[in-house]
Amino acid sequence: MTVTRFAPSPTGYLHVGNLRTALFNHLIARKSGGTFILRLDDTDPERSKQEYADGIKYDLEWLGLTWDRTERQSDRMDRYAAAADDLRAKGRFYEAFETPVELDLKRKKQLNMGLPPVYDRAALKLSDAEKAALRAERGNGVWRFLLDHQRIEWTDGILGDLSLDAASVSDPVLIRGDGQVLYTLASVVDDMDMGITHVVRGSDHVTNTATQIQIIQALGGAVPAFAHHSLLTGPHGEALSKRLGALSLRDLRAAGVEPMALLCHMARIGSSQPVELAADLDELADGFDLSHFGSAPTKFDENDLFPLTARYLHGLPLSAVADDIAALGVPDDLAAGFWQVASANITTRADLAGWWHLFRDGATPLVDDEDRDFIAQAFAMLQDPPYTVDTWATWTGAVKEATGRKGKTLFMPLRKAVTGLERGPEMADVMPLLQKKPTL
Ligand code: GLU
Repeated sequence: MTVTRFAPSPTGYLHVGNLRTALFNHLIARKSGGTFILRLDDTDPERSKQEYADGIKYDLEWLGLTWDRTERQSDRMDRYAAAADDLRAKGRFYEAFETPVELDLKRKKQLNMGLPPVYDRAALKLSDAEKAALRAERGNGVWRFLLDHQRIEWTDGILGDLSLDAASVSDPVLIRGDGQVLYTLASVVDDMDMGITHVVRGSDHVTNTATQIQIIQALGGAVPAFAHHSLLTGPHGEALSKRLGALSLRDLRAAGVEPMALLCHMARIGSSQPVELAADLDELADGFDLSHFGSAPTKFDENDLFPLTARYLHGLPLSAVADDIAALGVPDDLAAGFWQVASANITTRADLAGWWHLFRDGATPLVDDEDRDFIAQAFAMLQDPPYTVDTWATWTGAVKEATGRKGKTLFMPLRKAVTGLERGPEMADVMPLLQKKPTL
C-alpha cells in the first residue's frame, strides 16, 4: 500500500512552491487508494507557530487536499531519543565539540589546500576524559552520524539514477548541543515508523537523501522510493525563492484564484503534459504520473492562473455559484439569467459584484457627443422594467424605424449607453436583468 506524506515546517504559510510537494504526494496516494499523511515538522520550538500549523491546514482544506492523518514531530521526541540511542549502540553516532568558528577555520584551510570542505572527524579521536573536559568547558556537543564511506546509489522517480560518494559530505549533525533534534533524524525515524513508501519533495533535498538512506539502513528500516521535483523559477527563469512569500496560497486566494485552477496548473507545469482543466482531484490523480516530469527548473507565472480561473468559472453550473449570487442580493428568478450573462465575462468570483451592481443600479452611460440626441430619443421609447429577452429586439426595432439608423450605428451606441461598456454580454440577455430603466 502506498503511503505518502507532506511534511511542512509550521514556520510560515504555504506558497506555490510547497503546494507542489503537497499536491504530488496527495495525488500519488489518491491514485493508488493509499494513505496521505500531513506531518508537521515542528522540532524547532522557536520558529514553529500554531498559527502557521492552522494556516497550513486551512490552505490544504481550501484546496481539497484532504489527508488521512496528522502527525506532529514535537509529539514524538521519545522515538527520536530511542533512535539516537540505537545509533550510539551501533557505533554510528558521535559527539563533537567544535565551535562554529573552529569549523569555519577548518573549512577554509581545506579549501586553501584544494580539499573538499568535509568535516575531518577529529572528534572521533577524543578520549572520554577529553570529552568530559570539553563538555565541562563548552556544554554538550552536537551528535554526528558516522557515514559509511561508500558510494550511495538510488533511483529517483524523476531524476533517474543518482549516486553520491559519502566521503564527499560531512557526517551530518542530527542533534544540536542544546538537545534539539534536527530534521534529518526526525524525518528518517518518522518515514520508517509511518511506513512511508514514497517521498516526493523539492530537489533542494537531493543531497539529504543520500545521507538519509544510510541513516535508515543503520536503523534497520526500509528505504522509501524518492522523487525530487525541480524548483520553481519566475517566468524568465529568475529565482523565485525571495518572492515565494508573496506567492502564498492565502494571497492567491484573496486575489480570487480558484483552487481547481491552481491545482490543475501546478499538477502539470514542469511536465510534458499540457495544463488542462480537470473536473476534480480524482480526474487529476488519474492523469498524474511522475515520469512526465523533468529535471529542468519549472517556470511559474501567477498571471497564468487567472485565464485558467476564468475558464474554470465559465464552466461551472449555477448550483456551484448560487450562494455567491444570492449573497449579492440577486433575486432567485434572475439567478440563472445573471449567471449565464456574467459567467462568460468574469475573471474571478469577485467580478460578479460589478456586474450585479451594473444591472441593479444602472451604468454610467457611455455616449459620444454626436449620439446624444439619438440616445435621448431611444431612451424615451423604452418602457420601465421588468424587461424580457424580447425587449432588446422590440426596442431596437422601434428605434430603427423612428431614426433610420441600422447595424452598428444603431446597436453600438445603445449598448454603450445601457452598459457603459464597448463590449460585453448579449444585449438580449442583459435587458431582463436591468432593475432600472436606463437614463442619460
Ligand atoms: N520539513 C521539510 C521541508 O519542508 C520536509 C522535507 C521532506 O519532505 O523530507 O523542507
